[in-house]
Amino acid sequence: MKSRRNFLQKLTLSAVSLPLVSSLQAKDAHFWADSADYQGPVLRVAIMGLGSYGTRVAEAMKDCKKAKLVGVISGTPSKITEWQSKYNIPEKNCYNYENFDAIKDNPDIDAVYVITPNSLHKDQVIRVAQAGKHAICEKPMGLNAKEGREMIEACKKANVHLLVGYRMHFEANTLEIIRMRNEGELGKVLFFQGLSGFKIGDPTQWRLNKELAGGGSMMDIGIYSVNGARYMVGEEPIWVTAQETKTDPVKFKEGVDETIQFQFGFPGGAVASCLSTYSMGNLDRFFLNGDKGYAELQPSTGYGPIKGRTHKGPLEKPHVTHQTVQMDEMSDIILAGKKPQVPVDGEEGLKDLIIIDAIYKAVKTGKKVPLKIV
Ligand code: NDP
Repeated sequence: MKSRRNFLQKLTLSAVSLPLVSSLQAKDAHFWADSADYQGPVLRVAIMGLGSYGTRVAEAMKDCKKAKLVGVISGTPSKITEWQSKYNIPEKNCYNYENFDAIKDNPDIDAVYVITPNSLHKDQVIRVAQAGKHAICEKPMGLNAKEGREMIEACKKANVHLLVGYRMHFEANTLEIIRMRNEGELGKVLFFQGLSGFKIGDPTQWRLNKELAGGGSMMDIGIYSVNGARYMVGEEPIWVTAQETKTDPVKFKEGVDETIQFQFGFPGGAVASCLSTYSMGNLDRFFLNGDKGYAELQPSTGYGPIKGRTHKGPLEKPHVTHQTVQMDEMSDIILAGKKPQVPVDGEEGLKDLIIIDAIYKAVKTGKKVPLKIV
């Protein structure tokens, strides 16, 4: 209890906003971990959408110190029962898509992690915010910049955090390259290459349904090269060009992109050349070139271990399950006001959506699209 009091005193004295402090003070002591390896507040999370990635996050959260899975929101009753016994989730913390607004009256849940198909994110995040809970949302945050802005607005209005599941922003080898670049070890950055793709299977899945996915490979996997170009170069692009290739118009219907090549220009003079595809395997590679050195990651955004090297030798930071690190870090961001090295907030998610809107516009018009991202 003494350390909890110290933590709250520290928070009160720090620049952390008042509403956060009061929401913390309202919490019961038992959400204050007091074990040998961690003493501090714990973010109590409900996962919405118990699919493939939701399951991965739930498994990873077993090893979290600062975050705990305490609730579920699902449209599939049998999954709820299964998760209840697997993760020891009480009945009172189980919801479906119709009744989850009632989560506002549940003091045992701090945050909801939305892990559903892309087109559902906007409305679900807004409902989570209106219920007074912090929202963590999977990428892409929404279908376009307009949706992103609505989500940010709703979370601001409700005074809750909005974070996007950018797990690579906490990955140690990635952060080492960013450190090297920031400290000038690569010299002036001139070029980035991002290759993001895999061969997609089942043609009936939601990822190939424009209504649910909002697009094709770009929304799902190309976004890693969009986001990666920004954190690897360390600047925001000022123009975009893009070209689409479609070899299978039956599988990849109108509005569902199979392959897009895109290029960015950055204010410092660097350029980026990237590929997003649902039709090629072995495409998970970042390469950053400066006038004093280079950095390479391959795989660059898969579940790991992430491997890489620079002109100085191999990158050797140990692998830790990405989602475990992400959720502990997100707990620190939400409960302790920590600032991550690379942002994971709604504004960060919005930047990617602005760029993706511009990529689709460049594909459609065949023209260079100027960008102004602040
Ligand atoms: P899945 O299809 O495996 O799971 C999605 C879940 O959403 C379903 O199991 C279902 O859960 C729920 N759902 C609600 N409405 C629908 C609907 N109309 N159609 C289908 N499912 C529905 O998808 P993923 O878990 O792979 O992807 C979910 C999100 O996570 C996507 O936004 C994706 O981009 C993101 N993702 C992020 C990754 C990362 O590394 N950051 C990796 C993979 C995915 P229920 O039955 O419980 O309602």
